[in-house]
This record gives sequence, C-alpha cells and structure tokens, in this order.
Amino acid sequence: MNTAELTALHIETLTEARIARTLASIARRAETLLTEGGYKVETAWEGLYHVLGPQGQHYMVVSDTILDNHCDCKAFAEYETCKHLQAVELMLRDEAQAADYDALHTDADDGAYARF
Ligand SMILES: [Zn+2]
Repeated sequence: MNTAELTALHIETLTEARIARTLASIARRAETLLTEGGYKVETAWEGLYHVLGPQGQHYMVVSDTILDNHCDCKAFAEYETCKHLQAVELMLRDEAQAADYDALHTDADDGAYARF
C-alpha cells in the first residue's frame, strides 16, 4: 500500500469514527429530548408528528411503518436519522408499552368481574 492509499484509508477510518460518534450522540440526546431537552411532540395524525423545540424550532417527523421515516432537519439529511425522529420512536414505543399494560389490566379486571 502506498502513501496515498494509506492516507485515503486513514481519512476513511477517521470519517467512520466521526459518524459513529455522531450517531451515538444523536441516540443519547434523543433519550432525554422530551424531558430535559424541553422538546414537545404533537401528533398531526398517526405517523406524522410536529416536534417543537424550546427555542421555537419546528420539525416535521414521519415515523410510519409504510412511509419512509423522515425529518426535515439538517442531521437527518446527512445521517438519515436524528434526535427528533428517535425521540418520536421512543415516545411511540413507550405509548405502545403503556397500551399493552392497560390492555392486560383491563382483561384482568374483566376476569375479576366475570366471577360475580
Ligand atoms: Zn430531525
């Protein structure tokens, strides 16, 4: 391998490391975006969300099983993911878990009432 090839490989490795760090940072920030981050999510309809930032930022996020996921921020344009999209996905996961929990408890209550 000549010097030019080694340099190219080095740059590629540095770029991959930078991307990996950025993706890890996005995932970390998404976890607290709606709590400590002061962001809010408004559901336009199922699959389409407005993410509102504490400084008046506004992002349109698509998180859907049929349409491709999307956010109109700069990070998404570069990395095809972002803290807004991931925060919405975490919120939806939590809501689904809460719904499962409620369904489970409703069934248990029905069972209890059915005995009387
Ligand atoms: Zn975004």
